Amino acid sequence: MPRAPASDATLRERALRVVPGGMWGHLHAQRLPQGYPQFFARAEAGHIWDADGREYVDLMCSWGPIVLGHHDPVVDAAAARQAALGDCLNGPAPVMVELAERLVDRIPHADWAMFQKNGTDATTACVTIARAATGRRVILVAQGSYHGAAPWCTPVPAGTTDTDRAHQLRFRYNDVASLEAAADAAGDDLAAVIVTAFRHDNVVDQEMPTPEFALAMRRLCDRRGAALILDDVRAGFRLHRGGSWEGLGVRPDLSAWSKAIANGHALAAVTGSDALREAASRVFVTGSFWCAAVPMAAALATLQRLDELDAVAHMERLGRRLREGLAALAAQHRVGLRQSGPVQMPLFLFDGDAEFRQGSAFCRAALEAGAYLHPRHNMFLCAAHTDSDMDRVLDAADAGFRAVRRLAA
Ligand code: PMP
Repeated sequence: MPRAPASDATLRERALRVVPGGMWGHLHAQRLPQGYPQFFARAEAGHIWDADGREYVDLMCSWGPIVLGHHDPVVDAAAARQAALGDCLNGPAPVMVELAERLVDRIPHADWAMFQKNGTDATTACVTIARAATGRRVILVAQGSYHGAAPWCTPVPAGTTDTDRAHQLRFRYNDVASLEAAADAAGDDLAAVIVTAFRHDNVVDQEMPTPEFALAMRRLCDRRGAALILDDVRAGFRLHRGGSWEGLGVRPDLSAWSKAIANGHALAAVTGSDALREAASRVFVTGSFWCAAVPMAAALATLQRLDELDAVAHMERLGRRLREGLAALAAQHRVGLRQSGPVQMPLFLFDGDAEFRQGSAFCRAALEAGAYLHPRHNMFLCAAHTDSDMDRVLDAADAGFRAVRRLAA
C-alpha cells in the first residue's frame, strides 16, 4: 500500500530526531516565521503546496531561484534532453562552453565565465581570484551584507575563528566617506571591494545604490588597483538582463551569480574581465558537481526564456501593481507600512514594529488566506505570476491588515 503523505507536524518531529535543529541555516525552525509550514510537497508556475496540501501564491520563489515559475516547460524540456545524454560525467559536457559564450555575450563586463553550485562558491571564488590577481589581502565588505555561509562571510560566528574573517574592513552601504575611510585603512593591501546589487540586508528597509556610491566605488578600485566584485547572487537576472548595475552605468571586474540563473537548478557562476583572467586560471577552485551538465542546459534555456518573455518588464509591472495595491490598502486600514527595494523583490516592514508583531500577524493572516509572504526577508516575483495572483495576494493582504488592526485594538 502506498504510504500516506506525512503531515508537516509529523515531518518536523521526525526531522528533529535525525537532522540537528530539524533544519539548518535560514530555514532552522527558530528562524521560520511562526505558523509557517516547514515542508513543501510540490509547486507549479507561481504557486506552491505545503506538505499538508494547502496551496499558496508563492512570493518567495524558493528564495530567488524560481524566476520563470516552477516547472517552466521549456527549461524542464531542455534539462530532460541533457539528462538523457548525461549529467555528472568525467568532465564538462559541450553545453558548458555554450553557456560561457552566452554569458560573455550577454553580460557587458564579462570576458569569461566559470561555474560552481551555490552563491557562496561564487562569492568565495571572486574573493580568491581578486587576492590572487593583486597579491594583496584586504577585502572591503558592507556592514550587514550577506555574501554566503562560508567561514569568511557567515553572519553567525559559531564555529568560526577570528582569523577566518581576518583582512576584512567594513563600510556602510551608500556611504562614500565610510568607503574611502575603509580603503585608507587598507592602504596598499587592498585587494577588492565586494558589494551586493542593492542593500537587501535582513530586517532593514532595502536601499538601491546611489549613482554616486556606485561610481565612487568604481573610481576607488581603479585608483587603487583593486577589484570591484558585484555580488549579484540574489538580484541577478531579475533586475536587468545583463548585470544589476547596468542601469547605473557602472561595471564590476568580477560578478557572482546564482539563484535565478537556471530557474531552480543548482548552478552558480563567476564572470570576469580580461584583467582577472590570468588569476582566475591560476587559483584552484573546483567541486565534484561543478560541471554537472543538466543545470547548464537549464541555464541556457532560462536565459533565452527570460528574454522571450520580457520577464524583467513583466515582474516590474506586477510588482508595481502589488506595491500600489498594498499602499492603498495600508492607507485604508491606517496602518504604517513601509515598502522598499525594487518592485520585483519587495520587502514590507511595519512602522514601530521592532519585535515583528505586526509583520508576523500580517503574514500569518495572509498565509491563511493563501499568500506565502515573508515578514522579515525580501520576497521575489517570477515571470509566471499573473494579475489574478496579485489580486489574490492583495485579498490576502487585506486579511493581513485586519489582523494588524486587531493587534492595536
Ligand atoms: N550572496 C547573496 C547576495 C545572497 O543573497 C546569497 C544567498 N541568499 C548568497 C550570496 C549565498 O548564496 P548560496 O546560499 O547559494 O550559497
